Amino acid sequence: MPKQGMAADRRSRDEPMNSEVDVVVVGAGFAGLYTLHRLRRAGFSAVVLERADDVGGTWYWNRYPGARCDIESLDYSYSFDPELEKEWRWSERYATQPEILRYLGHVADRYDLRRDIRFETRIESATWDGAARRWRIRTDRGDEIRCRFYVMATGCLSVPKTPDVPGYGRFEGDVYFTGRWPHDGVDFTGKRVAVIGTGSSGIQSIPLIAEQAVQLTVFQRTPNFTRPAHNGPVTSTKKVAYERDRAAYREAARWSLAGVPSERSLVRALSVAPEERRAAYEAGYASGDLLAFSAAFADVGSNPEANETLCEFLREKIRSIVRDPETADALTPKNHYYGTKRPCLDTNYYETFNRPNVRLVDVRRDPIKTITEHGIDTASRSYGFDALVFATGFDALTGPIVAVDIRGREGRSLAEKWMDGPKTYLGLMTTGFPNFFMITGPGSPSVLSNMVVSIEQHVDWIAACLERMRAERLDVVEPTSVAEAGWVQHVNDCADITLFPTADSWYMGANVPGKPRVFLPYVGGVDRYRKTCDDVVRRAYLGLAFDGPGGARCADGVVNRLQLDVWTVLDLVTEFGLPRIETLSVPDARATFAAMAIGRPPGPEVGDVADGTLPGAAGPIAYRRYRPASPGPHPIVVYFHGGGWVLGDLESDDPFCRDLCCRSDAIVVSVEYRLAPEARFPAAVDDGFAAVRWIAANADRLGGVPGKLALCGWSAGGNIAAVICQMARAAGGPAIVGQVLVTPATDPDFTRASYVENGEGYILTTPMMKWFWDHYADPADRTQPKAAPLRARDLAGLPPALVVTCEFDPLRDEGAAYAEALAAAGVDTRHLPCRGQIHTSVPAVDVILSARGARAEIAAALRRFLGTTLGHAEQRRARPAVAAVPVGTG
Ligand SMILES: Cc1cc2nc3c(=O)[nH]c(=O)nc-3n(C[C@H](O)[C@H](O)[C@H](O)COP(=O)(O)OP(=O)(O)OC[C@H]3O[C@@H](n4cnc5c(N)ncnc54)[C@H](O)[C@@H]3O)c2cc1C
Repeated sequence: MPKQGMAADRRSRDEPMNSEVDVVVVGAGFAGLYTLHRLRRAGFSAVVLERADDVGGTWYWNRYPGARCDIESLDYSYSFDPELEKEWRWSERYATQPEILRYLGHVADRYDLRRDIRFETRIESATWDGAARRWRIRTDRGDEIRCRFYVMATGCLSVPKTPDVPGYGRFEGDVYFTGRWPHDGVDFTGKRVAVIGTGSSGIQSIPLIAEQAVQLTVFQRTPNFTRPAHNGPVTSTKKVAYERDRAAYREAARWSLAGVPSERSLVRALSVAPEERRAAYEAGYASGDLLAFSAAFADVGSNPEANETLCEFLREKIRSIVRDPETADALTPKNHYYGTKRPCLDTNYYETFNRPNVRLVDVRRDPIKTITEHGIDTASRSYGFDALVFATGFDALTGPIVAVDIRGREGRSLAEKWMDGPKTYLGLMTTGFPNFFMITGPGSPSVLSNMVVSIEQHVDWIAACLERMRAERLDVVEPTSVAEAGWVQHVNDCADITLFPTADSWYMGANVPGKPRVFLPYVGGVDRYRKTCDDVVRRAYLGLAFDGPGGARCADGVVNRLQLDVWTVLDLVTEFGLPRIETLSVPDARATFAAMAIGRPPGPEVGDVADGTLPGAAGPIAYRRYRPASPGPHPIVVYFHGGGWVLGDLESDDPFCRDLCCRSDAIVVSVEYRLAPEARFPAAVDDGFAAVRWIAANADRLGGVPGKLALCGWSAGGNIAAVICQMARAAGGPAIVGQVLVTPATDPDFTRASYVENGEGYILTTPMMKWFWDHYADPADRTQPKAAPLRARDLAGLPPALVVTCEFDPLRDEGAAYAEALAAAGVDTRHLPCRGQIHTSVPAVDVILSARGARAEIAAALRRFLGTTLGHAEQRRARPAVAAVPVGTG
């Protein structure tokens, strides 16, 4: 490859560089090249330090046979300059490594970047000099460069993992690493070759090595999911969409889930017929698109059963290709869910195992004892080889960063700070390390996205931040500990509702012995992440502390406090433009409320469900009894639905009742009550109390244990449950062993902070709550404890309570106040505040997965009140989804 500017570089390499620039950038891959270009354009002086002797990063180092991208090249390319887009044509849908390297060389030439890149220079340390407000960068060539800003564009997959195979280093034949492949290529003709590792690099290289080698032996620790790339010319549909309006195409990519234009599916795999599901999987398989399966159904990334349908489909494909059943079985992934390890695209991977010169050694069945001078000894036999190829993957995301001795304020080491896992703000910065930026760092979408899109977004964000600092005469920027802790929490919360943490993957750091087991990238999506970064800027650079001659400033805070799935639901509600309940007639409001339940997940199976009627305060009322699958008799939970005393019925909270029944191993009797405005206060509580009395008296008939009765209710139902506990206390019975009040209405005081803070935008609004109260009770009645249980003069002697409140709920503060008042009165009370949740979160079974913990806590409280043990379904839910397996390679 011609290297413009190399002469100048070679000259300068001989003398150590001792100078000062605005910005030092480390790495000359996609990220470093664009950073240099963007900073220059903004008028900053910058130098790039790169260990290799040319540009390219990943595509410089990974020259193994078959190396190519698996995000389509049209997408996997820069978008910052329409002229560049116009002049470059990709020859294939998935370009090979040499072509991508040519592209990056072209970019370096076109923007004359090489003159500011010092090649063959490894950065060894970076130290923040607080007095000078500068970083001091030292390299292996003796350079000492001072800079105001220090940017690590070192990539997520640039430090190959040292193979953890016994005897590593003993082999006397040829040894190759996919991530450090010789530039002249390797000819395996006539050679006996071993490949260790079946991650992406192994999967890409094995078919081509097999074509040359006289014999190829593949040592596999963990089989991965891979499917045909169907490579060829750029697909016409994509080309047409791209050529029609490039700017719009690129913008769609920037605001997509993974950095490639696509729609988020709302359809659940488990909600469609098996044939429909299969047709979608077949289409995804035929598409050769890495992201096709993530786009097909909404629940494959979070629901084990949904994911299993896809796994089984793919396993069938493997069995249909690989002729030898034992080999097919060994190649079939069984220990992780699809997508929880980096899925792959291949060309003839499984077919390769039908070749007579290829054999597979499953090292979980026949472990490697040691590498020897001449081959590999497994537990059962010795193999001789001429060449070993290690395709053993990378110390991903954090590896390249902590490989440099980075010292921040007070000489603090970044490696030490990250000992238990990386802590960053937006994956861009880290507290204690001023003026230090990472491109696609841990805690950003990085490896879960089309990385070029993520790189451009990070670089643009950093450049804009630096421009602003220059304009406002600010020298130093650093995230606050509040902002960082909030972001780390958000990143973990997001991962926790997915299946990712169940796998021993490099996403989890599990492939490197001793590395903390933490989910490293941000799973919220490129679009949400971009919005978050934009929000930070819009909110006066929220969470960043600035200082300099222009003054000191800091808008401290946490940028994303909503749980990811709550955020999704709120976006959908906005998109669908549901009418405001309080503007509707009561019948229309009821119809809208009921319509919101259509198509929702049904909740878990229970033993049996039976409907009946019981005597209410003024005539019969309907009830629904949910019985667990376990043998009875069971204790009973009487449940009251929500809906502001105006809306709702036995259907509205049906999934939640099922969930309660399974998790608590108790009978749940959900009872109706007369609704307002037809029957105003105190009809609802009078009906509820009558129902509780009848259920207590008829426990045997319902299959229950007499005397073991608890109450539970959500929202207005929580109000009813709380009031009934007070009524039962006054009446001397029936005995209630516990009460669970889920985001209850306890007192209509609309001046409370939560009515102000959360009054709009979180489904239940303050105007809606006023509308409910107006329909339910006259102002004079609202102060009675029978309407507002918080107003009761004495709460002593009430049943033990669990009060659940949600952070973004107008009712949050009255729920908390009731918990506090109960506790103050000596009632055994637990208050469970749910972070990032809204009023409707807890009953939204299988929709708001992040409220699973709250639902488990509710069940635990009920079991404690009722003296039951863990229910069957709860036991199933509590079990890890898949058995833990040894570390994987690649
Ligand atoms: C085989 C393979 C295929 C991939 N395919 C895709 C794909 O299809 N789609 C996708 O989105 N992503 C893919 N990736 C991820 C890929 O790494 C990124 O897309 C992208 O190339 C990263 O660019 P970067 O500039 O951030 O980092 P890199 O390309 O990794 O460049 C980092 C550079 O920093 C240098 N460096 C690191 N530490 C130091 C130091 N201390 N001193 C000096 N220099 C240093 C390295 O030498 C390297 O050149 C793939 C990765 C691999 C390994």
